[in-house]
Amino acid sequence: MSAPPSPSTSNFIRSIIDADLAAGKFSARRWAGRPGVAPEHRGGNADPARIRTRFPPEPNGYLHVGHAKSICLNFGLARDYGGHCHMRFDDTNPVKEEQEYVDSILEAVRWLGFDWVHGAEENLYFASDYFDWLYRFAEHLVEAGHAYVDSQDADAIRAGRGTLTERGRESPFRDRPPSESLALLREMREGKHAEGSHVLRARIDMASPNINMRDPVLYRIRFAEHHRTGERWCIYPMYDYAHPLSDALENITHSICTLEFEDHRPLYDWLLERVAEGGFFDRPLPQQIEFARLNMTYTITSKRRLQELVQMGLVDGWDDPRMTTIVGLRRRGYSPEAIRLFCDRIGVSKADSWIDMGVLEQALRDDLEDKAPRASAVLDPLKLILTNWPQERTEECSAPVHPQRPDLGKRSLPFGRELWIERDDFAEAPPKGFFRLFPGNMVRLRYGHVIRCTGCEKDAQGQVTAVLAEVMPDSRSGTPGADAYKVKGNIHWVSVSQALQAEVRLYDRLFREPMPDAGGRDCKLALNPASRRVVRAQLEPGLADAQPEQRFQFERHGYFVADRHDSKPGAPVFNRAVSLKDSWGTNRKSA
Ligand code: ATP
Ligand code: MG
Repeated sequence: MSAPPSPSTSNFIRSIIDADLAAGKFSARRWAGRPGVAPEHRGGNADPARIRTRFPPEPNGYLHVGHAKSICLNFGLARDYGGHCHMRFDDTNPVKEEQEYVDSILEAVRWLGFDWVHGAEENLYFASDYFDWLYRFAEHLVEAGHAYVDSQDADAIRAGRGTLTERGRESPFRDRPPSESLALLREMREGKHAEGSHVLRARIDMASPNINMRDPVLYRIRFAEHHRTGERWCIYPMYDYAHPLSDALENITHSICTLEFEDHRPLYDWLLERVAEGGFFDRPLPQQIEFARLNMTYTITSKRRLQELVQMGLVDGWDDPRMTTIVGLRRRGYSPEAIRLFCDRIGVSKADSWIDMGVLEQALRDDLEDKAPRASAVLDPLKLILTNWPQERTEECSAPVHPQRPDLGKRSLPFGRELWIERDDFAEAPPKGFFRLFPGNMVRLRYGHVIRCTGCEKDAQGQVTAVLAEVMPDSRSGTPGADAYKVKGNIHWVSVSQALQAEVRLYDRLFREPMPDAGGRDCKLALNPASRRVVRAQLEPGLADAQPEQRFQFERHGYFVADRHDSKPGAPVFNRAVSLKDSWGTNRKSA
């Protein structure tokens, strides 16, 4: 059994689970080994899962960072409480769903470090596998007088639903005898009626202050091919109908969803009660619990809006490293650990709030700080010529792979007469407080020698083409005389003759405003024009061996990853995941 949750990660959902377990609420539950109705579960063993949660995406797009919060929550609770979390595709809407999305969602959940296989039990489910049961429950509801076939058209149904201030109006078909509704429902299923000609509605309360309870539609006719059931069905259940019943079939104990479903909970409970009365479910029934969705600044957390960015070509696909999709974050260089750390830090609450993107970025820095090997990379190369160093002489300078982790060993940096340095590490006329290279000044070449700048070379336009300097005697790092030199600047470099030239993509936030789609505004207007800059960089030669998805700290620059798609053996392409410091100055939780 897993360790109990630590108090630091406790939240209101854990309190509910703690109380349920303390009261032995689930102790008599049985489990058929697969989803099913009460008679099947009764024939099974005691449920091996102390609780059951589920992650239920609709396979209509790629998952984003908001889904990561839900994944970490649902799978994390199951892990911490000795439970099982089911991976369930909510694929009851035939027109928007595709296998491509199913595959990518499974891969994303696994990549985040979670799993739906528990011993011999593989808890991977599709709501579409429940269509027979869902239909059976619908007939029960009709027979029991809890549902009816409404033959009004969509406009009339919408008009009859009323408003927040005005009660709804009963449909003229509301008191249709159950036998007539049942016959119609069967004809609907057999394809005898056109789309929109009839719907199945629950018979609840048209005067309810909660509009969700005003005889909601349960089934509609759609002559559409479904990605799993093909053309077997031409009536499809609504989300609000399919969801609670799928939860009950799967023995879910805690059905965790986002706050916008709070008003749907009475319907969730009503449906479970009515179907349980038909003998299909035993108690305790699943409990819906709502939590605040993740809203994050400088991004959008809506599959539909993300899809627009892809379709309009504003980004290079779902896995563009600027996208906060899980595939995008992965390609950007995020580790699963960083995303889980982020989800732990933001916690779970009942109140909507905004999390600054800086919190996500900081989680990545905090995860990689201790893990990422260091490397030298010159992103804006300028040649440095060491005029007193013999042309043919090269030396190997030794640098730690990680300054705090001697266990990771050393790396070797070839040093010679010509080196690449960053263009902005040299200033012909230094501004006040500039400690790096300018004529007459001394700096240390990190892990190498101390040098004194003697001047520079320029082209006809006055652009600096090379910096000239002399190596100071006995100044090599790690040798006895090295400390005799007192210098304020310490710059990185790579050898011109042995550098690895590589494409490096400098990514930044996709939007330049914290709330790009606030108030329904078109988020495309808030795009950051500088969100992607590509440079030819000069890198230390050892980086030629970087494996796709291997992450590094490029010293003084930030964390970078070898792109998982475009890197070739011996020729990696790097993406900047995050800079070393938060240049947006917004690393805080905003209200
Ligand atoms: P979108 O609006 O982006 O399509 P969705 O809620 O429709 O998102 P689903 O596929 O239905 O997407 O969501 C699967 C699960 O992920 C649901 O349980 C949902 O509550 C959760 N989820 C989606 N977005 C967020 C978010 N921003 N924060 C937390 N959980 C989320
Ligand atoms: Mg949805």
